[in-house]
Amino acid sequence: MTARIEAASPHLMNTYGRAPIALVRGQGCRVWDVNGKEYLDGLSGVGVNTLGHNHAKLVAALQQQLTQIIHSSNYYHVPLQEALAAKLVELSGMRNVFFCNSGLEANEAALKIARKYGVDQGIARPEIVVYEKAFHGRSFASMAATDNPKVRSGFGPLVEGFVRVPLNDIRAIEQATANRPDVVAVFFESIQGEGGVNPLHTEYLQQLRRLCDARGWLMMADEVQCGTARTGKWFAHQWAGIVPDVMPLAKGLGSGVPIGAVVAGPRAANVLQPGNHGSTFGGNPLAMRAGVETLRIIEEDGLLHNAATVGAQLRAALERELGGLAGVNDIRGQGLMLGIELDRPCGALIARAAEAGLLLNVTADRVIRLLPPLILCSAEADEIVAKLVPLVRAILAE
Ligand SMILES: *Cc1c(COP(=O)(O)O)cnc(C)c1O
Repeated sequence: MTARIEAASPHLMNTYGRAPIALVRGQGCRVWDVNGKEYLDGLSGVGVNTLGHNHAKLVAALQQQLTQIIHSSNYYHVPLQEALAAKLVELSGMRNVFFCNSGLEANEAALKIARKYGVDQGIARPEIVVYEKAFHGRSFASMAATDNPKVRSGFGPLVEGFVRVPLNDIRAIEQATANRPDVVAVFFESIQGEGGVNPLHTEYLQQLRRLCDARGWLMMADEVQCGTARTGKWFAHQWAGIVPDVMPLAKGLGSGVPIGAVVAGPRAANVLQPGNHGSTFGGNPLAMRAGVETLRIIEEDGLLHNAATVGAQLRAALERELGGLAGVNDIRGQGLMLGIELDRPCGALIARAAEAGLLLNVTADRVIRLLPPLILCSAEADEIVAKLVPLVRAILAE
């Protein structure tokens, strides 16, 4: 008997265009739907399932944690917060951490830090530089920092105080801010995710670091999607050898357990004081354990190296098979965050790939996005290529 998935659920708000698939089980890089159909997971829940599904070490640790304590509140010390913060400080070279529960919350905290950083210096109406094609979330502030009209329209008036600039153009940001003494921060995704897997170039990030230093701006790297080892470094900006002042994290940090964090360097570390910000669930022991174990397992299982090498293999194979084709504009990204930009909308690929047993995503209309678990092995990378390439060729032939 095949379970039929209804196109819309009468009891859920109609906020998502969902595929007619219900996933009920996962193991490693594979997932199964209610009908027992198997899929190779090329998306990992939008960059969340860092360790794949049902990872033995993570599951054992979380089971143990459930028997200890799930939640205690921030009225008390939470030793696992201290442990995860210490690890994030070590890996980032930054100073301290605030914990929340999601990407937009992490960004909301970052934006509040930027504003208060300005206000503390006597700037009454601080402004923050953001980027074209940016996605930072769907709260009022993170939505206003986002550049996608689909995300923003219908929710005005928008939060003010943002200046938008193009990517990878240091002249453009210098010009856009030349007569704006109230700018206090620059907020960017080291590699844009929803906007189409658009990396900020190494030289640009280095130029931007110098500009932020010269102007006294906070450099704020939204690593919600590209962070947590996805690109083969702990954080994507580390490819440029720079350290930001503020770094929001979320998605992959808990390998599936909801979590968010803002990491701050010396300039931003003491901006928030008691009463300025907080979260009931933020930093709860269960999520903190998930974060601690995720980072520990990444180290223990060599997943930085795996993301870099299997990612490079996957990218090389995609370039070999698709790179020369008319209609393939670009293949880009780093590690296991890859995008294939076509010259036409290709949303139809999502259903066709699922039919062929591969989960992936299309973003910015024309960019096929791959965000597989960081445990992806070489044979699974080959399998992604074998399933995806004929589908892309077919779309281009239509
Ligand atoms: C997904 C994402 C967010 C929003 O995260 P949520 O957990 O959905 O709120 C913010 N920034 C970036 C770069 C993202 O990819």
